[in-house]
Amino acid sequence: MIKVLITEFMDESSLIKLKSQHSVHYDKDLFNNPENLKKIIEDFEAIIVRNKTIVNKDIIENANKLKFVGRLGVGLDNIDTDYCKQKKIHVQPATGMNADSVAEYVITAGMYLIKNMSLFTNEIKKGNWPRTKYDSKEISKKNLGVIGFGTIGRKVSILAKKVGMNVFAYDPYIQNENQNDLDIKLVELHDLFKQSDIISIHLPLTKETKNFINKDVFKMLKRKPIIINTSRGSVINESDLIQAYQNKLISGFALDVFAEEPINKDFSNQITEEMNCILTPHISGVTLESNIRVSEFIVNELIDFFN
Ligand code: NAD
Repeated sequence: MIKVLITEFMDESSLIKLKSQHSVHYDKDLFNNPENLKKIIEDFEAIIVRNKTIVNKDIIENANKLKFVGRLGVGLDNIDTDYCKQKKIHVQPATGMNADSVAEYVITAGMYLIKNMSLFTNEIKKGNWPRTKYDSKEISKKNLGVIGFGTIGRKVSILAKKVGMNVFAYDPYIQNENQNDLDIKLVELHDLFKQSDIISIHLPLTKETKNFINKDVFKMLKRKPIIINTSRGSVINESDLIQAYQNKLISGFALDVFAEEPINKDFSNQITEEMNCILTPHISGVTLESNIRVSEFIVNELIDFFN
C-alpha cells in the first residue's frame, strides 16, 4: 500500500477503487494552498492533480518519496516535466480521455457563433425582434482550420467532417499525413489563416506556442473567421483578440481557457454583451462522462505502475 495525495476533484467511484488498494488523502481544494502542499507532499509516493495544482521544482524538491504524478487531463504546462524526468518521477496524462468532450464543445460553439445566436439572444432579452439584423449561416461546406493536429485536433476534425465541413490542419510536427483516411489536408499556416471560416486551436502551451495568435496573425485572416480556443489561454494574445473583433477582422470567439484563471477582471471588462462570443470557465474537457473516463484511467495507471 502506498500513500496517494489528490489535490483536485475526481470521480467518486474511481476514488473508492483507489482507496480500496492504497492509502488516499483527498483534498480537492489543496491546489489553492501551495505552501501546505509543499509541506505535506514529502509523505507521498503519488500525487493526482488537474491543471490548477502547480507541480514545480519547489514542490518536487520536497517530494522525496514521489514516484508518480497522475494528471486528470492532458495539458502538462502546470507540471515541471523536465525536473520530474531528472528525478525519475513518472508523469501520466489521461491522453484522449476528454477529447470527445472538447470536440463536441468546438462544434457546438462553431454552430452557435456562425448563427450569431448570442447576439439574437441579447436582442430578445431586451424585447427586440431582430429577424434580419444578423446573418445566420450553415456550418456545412465552411472551412475549419485546426491548429495542432494531435488527439483533440483529430477528434474535432472527424466531427467537423460529419457536419459537412472542409477541414485544414496545421501541425509542423506531423509529416506524410496528407493521404489520411479523414480527407484532411495538412496546410501551411498562412494558407489556413487565409481559408478558414472557423479556427480551432489545439496546441500545448510551450515557449513556442505562447502568444501564437497575435495581432500579426489577425491581419492575415481573410474570411473574418470565428476563433475557438480550448487549449490554453496564453496561446492567444487576449487584448489583440478583442481588438481584432472590434476591427471586424474576426466575427466571433469562443474562449474556454484564459491567460489568467479565474479570469482577470481587466480582460472580462473588455467583453460586452454586444459581442458574438461564448465564454466558459475551462470546462470543455469536463463532462460527467469524461470525468469518469479520466479518473478511471489515471487510477488504473497508478495501480498498474505500483504493481
Ligand atoms: P496532443 O499532444 O495530442 O496534440 C497537440 C498537437 O499540437 C501535437 O500534434 C503537436 O505536434 C502539435 N503542436 C505542438 N506545437 C505546435 C506548434 N508550434 N504548431 C503547431 N502544432 C504544434 O494534445 P491534445 O490531447 O490534442 O490536447 C491539446 C491541448 O488542449 C492540451 O495541451 C491542453 O492544453 C488542451 N486541453 C484543454 C482542455 C480543456 O478542458 N479546455 C481539455 C483537454 C486538453
